[in-house]
Amino acid sequence: MIKDDCLFCKIASGSIPSATVYEDSNFRVFMDVNPASKGHCLIVPREHFDNVYDMDAETAGRLFSLATGIARAQRKALKCDGLNIVQNNGAVAGQTVNHFHLHLIPRYEGDGMNLLWNPHKAEPEELEEVRKMIRKSI
Ligand code: AMP
Ligand code: ZN
Repeated sequence: MIKDDCLFCKIASGSIPSATVYEDSNFRVFMDVNPASKGHCLIVPREHFDNVYDMDAETAGRLFSLATGIARAQRKALKCDGLNIVQNNGAVAGQTVNHFHLHLIPRYEGDGMNLLWNPHKAEPEELEEVRKMIRKSI
């Protein structure tokens, strides 16, 4: 399905131009216009999925397989020292475009970028309670 009012549906289909690094019948990979670092790319499926919850397993598998290839191409081309793969779901998680997209963000020694969250020390009981809740829901 394609959504008429969706920016990334339009970019994925090519009706809005993008700085494309790769495309095939299922996906487009293009440069983020506001890159977090040099070489920041986005992978989008041509089909519209709002977020990770909506995506079917076959598309997800193909998408991650493609991501491994793009990651290696970024490393080869940019000589980056590392890479963050980020994917935001929901406004609270930082999602601003409601069409699934995977960020591939090259990292460079000393880039000073901060993608860190604020970890807290969990008690074993807390981990166990949450572990059971998630496990039951799979
Ligand atoms: P997110 O915050 O995870 O929803 O990420 C949306 C990303 O899309 C941001 O990093 C934006 O810089 C990027 N973005 C928005 N519009 C465009 C566009 N027209 N072309 C390329 N990247 C875009
Ligand atoms: Zn879309």
